[in-house]
Amino acid sequence: MTTEATARTVPYKEKKPFDYDPYLRQGKLPHIWCAGCGHGIVLKSLLRAIDALGWKNDDISMVSGIGCSSRTPGYVDFNTMHTLHGRAFAFATGVKFANPKLNVIVTTGDGDALAIGGNHFIHAARRNMDMTILVYNNYIYGMTSGQGSPTMPEGAVSTTSRFGSIEPPFDTCELAKTAGATFVARGTAFHAQELEKTLYEALKHKGTSVVDILDSCPTYYGRFNKHKNVSEMMKSIEKDGTISVAQAAKLPPEKTEGKIVRGILHRAERLEYCDGYQNLLDRVQNK
Ligand code: SF4
Repeated sequence: MTTEATARTVPYKEKKPFDYDPYLRQGKLPHIWCAGCGHGIVLKSLLRAIDALGWKNDDISMVSGIGCSSRTPGYVDFNTMHTLHGRAFAFATGVKFANPKLNVIVTTGDGDALAIGGNHFIHAARRNMDMTILVYNNYIYGMTSGQGSPTMPEGAVSTTSRFGSIEPPFDTCELAKTAGATFVARGTAFHAQELEKTLYEALKHKGTSVVDILDSCPTYYGRFNKHKNVSEMMKSIEKDGTISVAQAAKLPPEKTEGKIVRGILHRAERLEYCDGYQNLLDRVQNK
């Protein structure tokens, strides 16, 4: 088993060419994702980040709720759980508590994490239990045919906002940071190599890591919002205003207005929940 100390200090090293086979359950393929869906890109970046850390499959537990992104654990040869809508954080908490040595990863969508699971999300962030949460954020419920999610931009069209949404969206990263997550970052399915490095840092972090990943759902969000094709939709993730943390640092505040910043946005150290619980046990039992 890879020890926790070793895993957290391995330097990042990109591997080329990369063999995905040892990480995949071949019998579960082909996957159910639509052509042009960004979820496969996210999975690819995640597997490469895991490989760079040298983590073994048996040392990883991947937990999901319900939705297209929540099908991810079915395709990977880890200890996996496909659970209830919005409840992945509760199951992941149980897994980590039962075996703190496992590297726990939650794959969730914007609706699963921030609507149905919104309450669980903020408390997972508050507790700072060591887990990495990937929010596949495509602004819409893909699996149930395109209802608007809490991250959908104002004016966007969905089956529940036929004439454009009039609700302001949640900023996943601000929410995670405010709720107490000790590592908060944003990536996109368009910037796949950058995402790989961001996920590498998120996985290494001890505590609750949240990575908001701007992703694509061409089948519903793309069609409803008049994206011409998949590649135009993917390019729009960049064109519509994402900039890196490094780019943002060089610009005056008025030039970053309305831009979505990618990269590591917040990193802090705070007592991890399982360690805190162990401290409590030691204190109580040694009374
Ligand atoms: Fe991806 Fe959307 Fe298809 Fe779901 S419905 S697999 S999110 S493109």
